[in-house]
Parts: sequence; C-alpha cells; structure tokens
Amino acid sequence: MTSSTRRKDTYSRAAFAEAKSVIPGGVNSPVRAFSSVGLPPVFIAGGQGSHVFDIDGNEFIDYIGSWGPLILGHTHPEVVEAIGKAAAQGTSFGLPTEIETKMARLIIESVPSIDMVRMVNSGTEASMSVLRLARGFTKRQKIVKFQGGYHGHADALLIKSGSGVATLGLPDSPGVPESVAANTITVPYNSMASIRHTFEQFGDQIAAVIVEPVAGNMGVVPPLPGFLQGLREITAQYGSLLIFDEVMTGFRVSYHGAQGLYGIEPDLTCLGKVIGGGLPVGAYGGKHEIMQQIAPAGPIYQAGTLSGNPLAMTAGYTTLRLLGQPGIYDELERKAARLAEGFMRNAEMTGIPLQVNRVGSMLSIFFTEHDVVDYETAKRSNMGLFKQYYAAMLDRGILTAPTPYEVMFVSAAHSVEDIEATIKAHYEVLKTIEF
Ligand code: PLP
Repeated sequence: MTSSTRRKDTYSRAAFAEAKSVIPGGVNSPVRAFSSVGLPPVFIAGGQGSHVFDIDGNEFIDYIGSWGPLILGHTHPEVVEAIGKAAAQGTSFGLPTEIETKMARLIIESVPSIDMVRMVNSGTEASMSVLRLARGFTKRQKIVKFQGGYHGHADALLIKSGSGVATLGLPDSPGVPESVAANTITVPYNSMASIRHTFEQFGDQIAAVIVEPVAGNMGVVPPLPGFLQGLREITAQYGSLLIFDEVMTGFRVSYHGAQGLYGIEPDLTCLGKVIGGGLPVGAYGGKHEIMQQIAPAGPIYQAGTLSGNPLAMTAGYTTLRLLGQPGIYDELERKAARLAEGFMRNAEMTGIPLQVNRVGSMLSIFFTEHDVVDYETAKRSNMGLFKQYYAAMLDRGILTAPTPYEVMFVSAAHSVEDIEATIKAHYEVLKTIEF
C-alpha cells in the first residue's frame, strides 16, 4: 500500500472505542493511543518479517518494531519455534533453570562492562532496581538524570522524562512524591558544563548518573564527542557510579551496545527490549563487587516471580545467538544509512526543514532546520508538520512511532525494497505537506 489511498480504519476505530470503555485511554501504554497525531490507533492483527497487518486489512512496513525489541522482525521462524518448544516444557517454575545461566553468560560475554547480571521483567524494573543498588552501594541518595531521558516509569526517574511523557507534554507525573523527586537532579543532555556544575554543588551526595548513552526517548540524539567520556571521568572523580541505560541501545546499536560502540565502560548497565526477543524481559548488570551486593549474595533486595522464566529466556537467548552471526549489524547499518540519506535528499529536493539523527539502526526525523542535540532542541520539531506527515505516511502504508519523541527502528527483516518504498513515500509526502 505505498500509493496514497485513504487507509480503511472502521474496525480500528470501533475496537478503540470498545477498549476505551474498559482500559484507561484504551491502551496499556500511553503512546499507543496516537493522541499526539490526532488519529485513532492502528489495531494490529499480526505481523510477519518487516510488515504488520491491522484489523481493517491494511498492511504496513513497520518501523515501530514493538518499540525496539524486534530487531529480527516479526515472527522470526527460529525464535517462534524455540518459544514453542520451551512452552511445551513448562512456562514458568519460579525455580532455577539452566537457560538463565546460559543467558547470563551470553550477556556477560557480549557487553564489555558486565561481570554479573540479574534478569527482571522490563526495562522499568531494571532501572528501578539499579538505582536501589547504586544507592545501597554508595550509601548516597541523589541521582542525576538527563532531561528528555526516559528510563521507565519508576517514581525517581519519572522527572522531566522523554518518551510518552514528552509526547503528552507532561513535565512531571502527579503521584510522584516530592520527597522522591527531591533526590533526582535533572540536567540537559550533552551538557558537560551543567554536569560539572551539578557535581560541584552536590558531588558527595550523588549515588549515580543514569544516562541513555544514545538518547532515544526524545527522538534519537547521539552523544556529542567527549560527553560519555566526560561522564565517566567526573563520576569516577566523585566516587559516584555511572549507569548506562542500554534498554534501547543494548544489542541494537552494536552487538556490544553503545558502550562497545563508544568504548566507554559504565559501572552498571540496564538492558531490556532486544534481549527479550519480543517477550517481557529486562536485566541489569555490572561490576562483580557491586552486583554481589544484590540479595541473596548481599543485602540489597530485589526479586521477581517471573524473572528469568524459560519462555522469555529462550526468546532472548535465541535472538541474541542469531544476532551474533557475522554481518547482521553491517547490514542494519547499510539499510539505516540508506534510509537516512534518502530522507535528507528528499528534504533538500522539497525544501522542507528536516534533521535526521541516526546511530546504527535507530533513526529519527525532526522538522526543524536546527541541529537536535538535547531535549530543548528536540522540542523545536514542528508538530504541525509532523502530524500532516504522519497521517500521509500511514496512508501510504508506512508505520512509524506516532510522535517525534521516539525512534524509527530498522530491523534485519527490512528488505531493500522496503527501504526504497519508504524513501519514495517520504518524498511524495514531503511534496504534499503544507509548510
Ligand atoms: N529505558 C529506556 C532507555 C527505554 O527506552 C525504556 C522504554 O522505552 C525503558 C527504560 C523502560 O522499559 P520498559 O518499557 O520495558 O519498562
């Protein structure tokens, strides 16, 4: 469906109305409501490879990829088969299984700074648990996060957040106790000057700095040269921990995550998304001496009924093994680079102000003529243009996140034809939107 035909949406509209009567806002995670683009959400019937199908019979080239996990595309046959076999053995025991150790070993071998790892069920759980660990280990209270950074919805991290919070324009969420918020310091991403100032004021109280090493929840914002290194140095200087939230970037921007790509070793790392192979998984890991503080090895408590369950471990393990094959990341890089280059050329040809930010297979477009280096500059993206663009792309069968504060994910399943069709649709849409 890459020519422009008004997409059918009768069944999606009806399903959304019905969902709203029983689920707050009709969705189980806010950005899925499509509210920022003023459209009813697309209700999905299924997916295969790089494509998804909705309940109205429309087919889309999908760049949401379940918001990052599906780096191999939908229903990868080996992943599906492995999940099926695991399910036949039992879905959860709440007792140790060998696949958990295999998974831990694979993560440790792949992510440079991780000596030990604990599995949880989501990225939120990973970052929430890692904060407790950082505080327990350093015996300090304050944490530093970046404006427009999103680390899941734990209270301490839901301050000046990106992702859905940015999409809905909520500066902070009601319900987060002031006493919790008081211990979270937020600073602009990519600003070493602000970080230095913060450490000069509060250095001996800061347990940790948590950062998305490539920001992905204000759209893609790469770290400026020296920024991650600067964070490494200043945290070491003040005895604070450096936490890389690699829930999105882990096994995405390289097999060794952003830390492998940029050559910086944090003290602790959060993982999620790709490592679950499409099932609910998170993990956190790091240096041996810190991780040994987690119960039952140490006193800092963290637990989970379904943590490390065999289905999720199998889906994740199979996915990571497939990603370890030679050439996968080179191929992702080639396809995503072609997409970015096509978009920039379209912008030049049509005169539409556009920035394309990209690291590996994570990519975002911003309707602005200025560089996007932090949350303030990301917010300059023209929302009016984005809305027109979004609806027209959807009508041409291209499904991307319904907000500029998220990422377009290229997967191994996207074909060259998918990429070229997307560039073509993008050009046609840029020609028609009213600037
Ligand atoms: N950290 C980052 C960087 C994320 O992008 C996300 C989710 O988008 C999370 C944490 C939270 O993960 P989850 O949605 O699995 O709780």
